Amino acid sequence: FILPFLMCYFALKHGLREFCLLAGLLTLICTTYVSLPLAGEYWSEDQVYMLSRISAYRLALGSYLIIFLIVCEIYLNNKRLYQAYERMMLSDELTGLKNRRFVREKVLTDPSYQNGFLLLLDIDDFKRVNDAHGHHIGDLVIQHISALLRESSVSSKMISRWGGEEFLVVVKHASDADCKALCDRIMQRCREQPFVYKDLQFPVNVSMGAATFKQLDLNHYEALIQKVDKNLYEAKARGKNQYVFSA
Ligand code: GH3
Ligand code: MG
Ligand code: MG
Repeated sequence: FILPFLMCYFALKHGLREFCLLAGLLTLICTTYVSLPLAGEYWSEDQVYMLSRISAYRLALGSYLIIFLIVCEIYLNNKRLYQAYERMMLSDELTGLKNRRFVREKVLTDPSYQNGFLLLLDIDDFKRVNDAHGHHIGDLVIQHISALLRESSVSSKMISRWGGEEFLVVVKHASDADCKALCDRIMQRCREQPFVYKDLQFPVNVSMGAATFKQLDLNHYEALIQKVDKNLYEAKARGKNQYVFSA
């Protein structure tokens, strides 16, 4: 009886269908076969009655276990499918970062996003990269900046690919100084780490617009995005390769 239970535990932990079925089958065999009276031996009527009842209980237990395992297997399968679906729907394929839907569905509905800042980043003269080197290199440049953002960011941050070559960073529980420090860090990393691919090497500059928020939710979101967008536009208008911050 112990072996099937051990197998059930292992099967549930790892969600393996084969193990689930095998464990169920073994349990069924054990519960029925082991309890059958031995042939040729003498059993009193009471003993036979008792044994048959035990047999029936064990058979029932085995059947319940199989049903339980099948339900668990269906549940685990559904869970895996849902997780894969969520990963696909809420992340960006090219960079592996979160996408815009993630911000709408997970960030704006999360009340813990308080007293932080938003940062909208746009790669400078990106069209020229595409025109000069092709879209494949353009894609690699987008990946280069996304890696750079991942490395530069602070903890408890959310980085999403906002559009083509635009990224939105959301940091909660952070001060104005934290925001400026992060912007400086990103600018510095862009200066220090040019894009390199085979024998191709060139610097990638970015412009950023940043603003702080008290509460990031559906009520404040539109106004906040407009604010960082305006700041980003201002950074571009001032000559690019810089950031504009407003509290
Ligand atoms: P600015 O400095 O003013 O931002 O100029 P820009 O050239 O970067 O202009 P803009 O931001 O409008 O350029 C966006 C371009 O990005 C247009 C589009 O062709 C390209 N793009 C959008 N998505 C992708 C993508 O996934 N891969 C590649 N390679 N290019 C993309
Ligand atoms: Mg753009
Ligand atoms: Mg651009």
